[in-house]
Amino acid sequence: QIAARAESLTKTYGSGDTVVHALRGVSIDFRGGEFTAIMGPSGSGKSTLMHCLAGLDTASGGRVRIGSVELAGLSDKEMTKLRRDRIGFVFQAFNLVPTLIAEENITLPQGIAGREVDREWFDTVVGRLGITDRLSHRPSELSGGQQQRVACARALVGRPDIIFGDEPTGNLDSRSSGEVLDILRAATDEFNQTVVIVTHDPRAAAYADRVVFLADGQLVRELQRPSADDVF
Ligand code: ADP
Ligand code: ADP
Repeated sequence: QIAARAESLTKTYGSGDTVVHALRGVSIDFRGGEFTAIMGPSGSGKSTLMHCLAGLDTASGGRVRIGSVELAGLSDKEMTKLRRDRIGFVFQAFNLVPTLIAEENITLPQGIAGREVDREWFDTVVGRLGITDRLSHRPSELSGGQQQRVACARALVGRPDIIFGDEPTGNLDSRSSGEVLDILRAATDEFNQTVVIVTHDPRAAAYADRVVFLADGQLVRELQRPSADDVF
């Protein structure tokens, strides 16, 4: 089953002499339970593609579907609800609430959505991410890597259909990177969630089912089940 689909996606920024073609007709499917890494040089359109897929940015042309829902047809309110109910975000700017402790940050989206937190899954996630003993700390009392893992737990705890990550291992040491990648892998393998990350990290790409390469706003290459050597 298709968890997300981009069809002939284009995105231009600016106009006239300063127009930038960030995406030049990208078509790609993301299946349920599949882990995809998007790689490519800086400026190739990776962030733009992910933002358009996640409904954080509007494409200039083409279509995006999340599950069976066409994003173009949604009101702002419906879009917000879809993001809240179906999508998890692991972005580099952690966006943790400074006045809340880690545990409250992790469960906040569930509270906003009026959903019960599955305590067993919560314990599993924070345990596997190695942050069980940091749960009563505020973000300012956590290292960058711990904050990133809290943001990762927040994205996972509601078991969204699809998880988008922008350099989810970007600021992490190799042990913490491994913990984050293991839990993302578990989300796909054990719960059939779909994971899409933008990364420069070959080890992160080696966790993926496939790696797609963007260059100058176009998909130029795709590798199935890559090894780290393939993507260096
Ligand atoms: P990547 O994530 O691969 O580094 P981006 O998607 O961030 O690439 O950017 C693709 C192109 O679009 C780049 O040329 C970038 O400068 C441009 N771009 C991205 N966001 C904006 C924006 N908000 N306004 C103008 N140009 C942008
Ligand atoms: P990264 O490579 O880590 O994704 P970027 O430097 O490409 O970071 O972009 C960071 C943010 O700045 C993105 O959200 C993008 O939309 C915005 N951005 C990138 N290029 C431009 C630009 N030329 N003008 C305005 N905003 C931009």
